[in-house]
Amino acid sequence: MNDTIVAISTALGKSAISIVRLSGDDAIKIVTKVFKGKDLTTVQSHTVHYGRIVNDKEIIDEVLVSVFKAPKTFTRENIVEIGCHGGIYVTNRILELLLLKGCRLAEPGEFTKRAFLNGRIDLTQAESICDIIEAKTASGLRMANLGLRGDIRKMIEEFRQELTGLIARVEVSIDYPEYEEETTVSVLAEQVHNLIMRLDDILGKTQTSAILKEGVMTAIIGPPNVGKSSLLNALLREDKAIVTDIAGTTRDVVEGEINIGGVILKLIDTAGIRYTEDIVEKIGVRKTKQIIEQAALIILVFDYNMPLTTADLDILRMTEQSARIIVVNKNDLEPQINLYQLEDYLLMSAFNPDDIEKLEMRIKEVLNISDITDIDYTYIGNTRQIAKLKQAKEDLITAAKNMSIKQPIDIVSIDLMSAWRHLGEILGYVSTDEIIDELFSNFCLGK
Ligand code: GDP
Repeated sequence: MNDTIVAISTALGKSAISIVRLSGDDAIKIVTKVFKGKDLTTVQSHTVHYGRIVNDKEIIDEVLVSVFKAPKTFTRENIVEIGCHGGIYVTNRILELLLLKGCRLAEPGEFTKRAFLNGRIDLTQAESICDIIEAKTASGLRMANLGLRGDIRKMIEEFRQELTGLIARVEVSIDYPEYEEETTVSVLAEQVHNLIMRLDDILGKTQTSAILKEGVMTAIIGPPNVGKSSLLNALLREDKAIVTDIAGTTRDVVEGEINIGGVILKLIDTAGIRYTEDIVEKIGVRKTKQIIEQAALIILVFDYNMPLTTADLDILRMTEQSARIIVVNKNDLEPQINLYQLEDYLLMSAFNPDDIEKLEMRIKEVLNISDITDIDYTYIGNTRQIAKLKQAKEDLITAAKNMSIKQPIDIVSIDLMSAWRHLGEILGYVSTDEIIDELFSNFCLGK
């Protein structure tokens, strides 16, 4: 792993500056070969130097070069950052030149991977770096920063330490069976139970953190002309933030994202369903069900000025189990709807800004994020970490079961060890190469 890697760390495109970054034993030596200015091999660490990048006699660019010497660097290796002009051609020329002089192109996420492999950060911190880059809201950014600071690690470490204590006690009772095993088991059972409860609590809160981080798949459904677009436009006007750049697999189903006071609503494209016919037709029912399943939040809109139809009642029934908000819009008009057919609804007008604010508040209430405290930001919002946490909980449940049916204590010990290992995997203490490669390949290039 001692080879020196290089990548363009800024987005490639016309911009004021670009940064080409190198990491590895020979980073400083390689840059010296193409840099005209100071002798970089003799400069102090963490200093910036003015000069030119040249290819023999040809001047390529005027640059500022930052030199960071191992081990107090991001990767714990020598790092050089070349700040050049942000043209696509010039940046690529510098990259090419450096490749010719003896480094190789970094893989996506390789800088962060090295930081991890060299013990500078744990896996949760590496993932937090990715999250900072991907953050779209203030709360998402805040969560990511707490993760980077090591708050998730601390939380998981605490669990592991307690488990270590339990495992130690079990091991002692295996080695010295003359100790009263009965008391050990009853004390142990209580502590395992306590750990399960706490893991449950964290897992419960992960849903909130996932919402803060990733946004909520939202479907706005209702008959034509009830004011769905008007509502959407009003919500948009509040924050003026629509994010159109959607990466990954959700592209087909999501037609846009809106920021509701820090929460991203990912709007599911419902244009495919023809409301009135589809909902009663067989094929339409399937399509509608699909949308309802995809949605973590359903905003169901009806018209105050129109009676409810069979299709309306059908969709009410179909969404009964979902997190939903029923909006009865156009309350400035004459009532035609039978409100007693609805249980909980928001009577409003898309034209009234106060009502839009009320709707936003309802959204936060339904999603359970109206009263998030500071601690909640520390919880885990990452699928990989959640999966490991669930596995650890399952192990503990198995341990508890085995104790209750009086299995030998060394069987219980195996379950506890497994929980301990799964917690360690969250931090990257015990991971296979494949998992690590997979994880870092999701990073952007140059990070
Ligand atoms: P959609 O088909 O459900 O998206 O409905 P639109 O948003 O296109 O609205 C249909 C019509 O209802 C438009 O003429 C809107 O101006 C009107 N509309 C929307 N909200 C209200 C409201 O609160 N009160 C009144 N009176 N008209 C509204």
